[in-house]
Amino acid sequence: MVETSYKLGSETLPKTIIEPFRIKTVERLPQTTRDEREQYLQEAKYNPFKLRGRHITIDLLTDSGTGAMSAAQWAAMMTGDETYAGSESFFELESTVQELTGVQYVIPTHQGRSAEHILFSITSSGDSCVLANTHFDTTRANVEYFGGTAIDLVIEEALDPTSQHPFKGNIDLEKLEEHLQRLGDKVALVLMTITNNSGGGQPVSLENLRAASELAHRYGKPFILDAARFAENAWLIKQREPGQSSRSAREIAKAFFLLSDGFTMSSKKDGLVNIGGLLGLNDPELAEKARSLLILTEGLPTYGGLAGRDLAALAVGLEEVLDEAYLEYRIASIQYFHQLLNQHGIPLMHPAGGHAVYIDAQAFYPHIPPHEYPGLALANELYLEGGVRAVEIGTLMFGRPSPEGPDIPAPLELVRLTFPRRTYTQSHVEYIAEIMVQLFEKRDHVKGYRITKQSNILRAFTAELEPIFTKTGSLLS
Ligand SMILES: *Cc1c(COP(=O)(O)O)cnc(C)c1O
Repeated sequence: MVETSYKLGSETLPKTIIEPFRIKTVERLPQTTRDEREQYLQEAKYNPFKLRGRHITIDLLTDSGTGAMSAAQWAAMMTGDETYAGSESFFELESTVQELTGVQYVIPTHQGRSAEHILFSITSSGDSCVLANTHFDTTRANVEYFGGTAIDLVIEEALDPTSQHPFKGNIDLEKLEEHLQRLGDKVALVLMTITNNSGGGQPVSLENLRAASELAHRYGKPFILDAARFAENAWLIKQREPGQSSRSAREIAKAFFLLSDGFTMSSKKDGLVNIGGLLGLNDPELAEKARSLLILTEGLPTYGGLAGRDLAALAVGLEEVLDEAYLEYRIASIQYFHQLLNQHGIPLMHPAGGHAVYIDAQAFYPHIPPHEYPGLALANELYLEGGVRAVEIGTLMFGRPSPEGPDIPAPLELVRLTFPRRTYTQSHVEYIAEIMVQLFEKRDHVKGYRITKQSNILRAFTAELEPIFTKTGSLLS
């Protein structure tokens, strides 16, 4: 990825940031024709969630559990200890996590949401509130499941796609204090999602984390991190926050973990594994309660819903993710893709975040109203044109059906192109950019969609749709 420039003699040359790995095992990419893709999309009822993996050439649906493990991780899987109680692989993972975060009690779970489920079942109740920068979907769902209220207090700049604020994941500290004062005993805890997934993979600054932690503690509340992308957040702090550039990503991560009373973590992101989660706690009583629940739903505290080999691979992944050559390449590859699209005038969420590039689908297709799903139209065109799968984050996902008329729209109509870790190369990135540019040139002719079947909850995953045909032509021409 061409990033900055350096001087060689009198010449200024681009500095190329290479993928800091070579490929030992490969997997064939499915190749399809346009005719086949039209058929597959029709069979999927025009909902990319219903496409089959073998019909997708490049899959940018999510970065969750889709990354590539290293040779060292596969080796650790082979030597993982499958002892039912007291697995050595657990103790290795426990000391790795304690060293990395400073946390006292390390509780493995089968993925991030089960760590959330356990945390909220022991901290929130009927009328309690959780205050966060932005709750991730499963986090919000778990808070609400226990009868609590999930309140998002992200800074205003986060809602403006064009704002260049370097830390659009920050919480609004004034609003946080106002809520802590007003809600008093009702507040169960303060939660910071790093990076802010729902807000575009935008980082939170160390300064903001420190201030939020102080506020939470002043009001006697636990300060918890949703740390799925902790390493990407640490790297973005190093790059963007004044005074942090000389510290290592590991030191920065340790600094923010030490501000917290614990964390939940989906290991399927920066854990560099395909399945797994963690709950970290410092309070011995809470940890005791969490372990009792763990036995009920996940398994013994020394495996928590995972095989010994999964614990072993995670211990290695948590070390590898803080390799600065990896983090430099990871963030540069997202920035490179962002730059390629930006150069062609494609409307984007700015600045580039940590794991994905978000396209402003409403600005891309201004002629398609929110209730005809411009984001879905773009995601479907991307598949038809290039076999690339992306995800709509707009009115199909977050809007609400209205009995009287068109859907109540979501605040933004976005398409997320999410990059699995260590999986695709620079030429894949350039191919996707080329397809996007072609779609942008043809943008005037694309039509919207209408829903033919939907469910009451989380409709985006299962909805069936049809293109809105015009009298003279078809969408697929
Ligand atoms: C993925 C994710 C979760 C949920 O984790 P799963 O492993 O998918 O259960 C929670 N919070 C954030 C920020 C995430 O990205």
